[in-house]
Amino acid sequence: MKRVLTLVLMATLSVSVLAGCSSSKSGSTDKKLTVGTTIYKFDDTFMTGVRNAITTQATSDKVTADIVDSQNSTSTQNDKLDLFITKKVSSLAINPVDPKASSTIISKAKSANIPIVFFNRVPSESDMNSWDKLYYVGAKAEQSGTIQGKIMAEYWKAHPEADKNHNGVLDYVMITGEPGNTDAIARTKYSIDELTAEGIKSNQIATDTGMWDRVKAQDKMQSFLTSKGNQIEAVFANNDDMALGAIEALKAAGYFTGGKYIPVVGVDATAPGIKAIEEGTMLGTVLNDSKNQGIATLKLAEVLAQGKTPSKENTGYEIKDKKYVWIDYKKITKDNVKDAK
Ligand code: BGC
Repeated sequence: MKRVLTLVLMATLSVSVLAGCSSSKSGSTDKKLTVGTTIYKFDDTFMTGVRNAITTQATSDKVTADIVDSQNSTSTQNDKLDLFITKKVSSLAINPVDPKASSTIISKAKSANIPIVFFNRVPSESDMNSWDKLYYVGAKAEQSGTIQGKIMAEYWKAHPEADKNHNGVLDYVMITGEPGNTDAIARTKYSIDELTAEGIKSNQIATDTGMWDRVKAQDKMQSFLTSKGNQIEAVFANNDDMALGAIEALKAAGYFTGGKYIPVVGVDATAPGIKAIEEGTMLGTVLNDSKNQGIATLKLAEVLAQGKTPSKENTGYEIKDKKYVWIDYKKITKDNVKDAK
């Protein structure tokens, strides 16, 4: 009996030792993939949505997304990048602070042979073509501007009383994102181009940058109201945070009560933006699909980390010109606000 027990014990022990060996072996070969991810600054409402989508997708795909804050500083971003390279991450996902300075990022990653997916801020075509392991995920900003123009045009045509001075011209203020930013430039231009295309004459009463920021935009709107208050008939803001800042300033000046109204349009369809549409203070916005931008970024980075070439089959997203994933924008007003939720 004792002999049998000893045999059983020995057999059990050897099985567990073997199991231990095999698991440590598989542990060393199936190294968990790490995507070194930098965000231009954490304190940005839209980018927080993209960041959350990356984290959720990484968890479900069982890869590590090591996400760091560049704090809106190119040198901080480059320090973080150096750290990722030292740590030998499997691929990089970069939301550049300044896309015009992308060549530095590219040359560092290229020497270490670590592929990059840029997102939200597109590097120049020549930078993008400087290596075959560079990809981009984002949205076509002109589309968002055109949709903003459409929302405003519909309102203007349906509400003759919106032309407060009856001069037949839509007198607007434009609050822009960071100077030089591609999204800011395109939204500013294409929103007004769309008004013109729809036969609406317009006149810019004032413009200034709100740097994508709610508080800064509120300050700017306050000064517009002080200097040009009675002339303003409409507000375009390059994103929802700035539209919400403008709405705060308008509220303080007595708007949105007792029939005093100015149409305000933004871009992003952030949660507070959607709430403002439901409350009737924001006329409309444009859904900037943070969820799909985050998922696509992670998927591409993951496939590249596995040493494969991204395709529709292995990422779920169409790859245009061998490098680009473009996520569509969508018009959001009171009528379809649930689509943005
Ligand atoms: C968004 C902004 C955001 C910016 C950051 C834009 O696409 O609309 O809300 O601040 O990206 O780069």
